[in-house]
Amino acid sequence: MSEALQAVVTAAETVHDHPWLLAVAGVILLVVLVLRSPAGGACSSRDPRRTFTSAERAQAFARAGMRCEHKSMFWSRCTNTATQGDHIFPWSHGGRTAMSNQQALCAFHNNRKSGSVPTRMYIIRLQRRRRRYFPPEETARIEWRLGAAI
Ligand SMILES: [Zn+2]
Repeated sequence: MSEALQAVVTAAETVHDHPWLLAVAGVILLVVLVLRSPAGGACSSRDPRRTFTSAERAQAFARAGMRCEHKSMFWSRCTNTATQGDHIFPWSHGGRTAMSNQQALCAFHNNRKSGSVPTRMYIIRLQRRRRRYFPPEETARIEWRLGAAI
């Protein structure tokens, strides 16, 4: 018997002996699927205002400590200076042009993110990180449409 087939047989025997493992695996899979799903559905109506004002961008840079807010899953926060105000939930998908939907990014990370819709996990992680570096008077809550938050 090949090693791969033996591994499958062993896994099947383990599940047979402990059927609750399937329920645990199902719950874990469900949580992962929800967290990796896009945060919010696209909206056909667009905010009439496309870009942030220079004052809004300056405020976003200041509350982020003048640093890019991007953080990949396994690395620390980007150390580049924030130079661009990004719609967290893209304007092209119905995200509004408001401080609650703006993040400060460096040119590299804003270009890489482009118009992609963030996942729920992205939103949750960004909100959690922001509580550490945002000034106390700034809310870390991300809201891309009125009343629409995660
Ligand atoms: Zn960056």
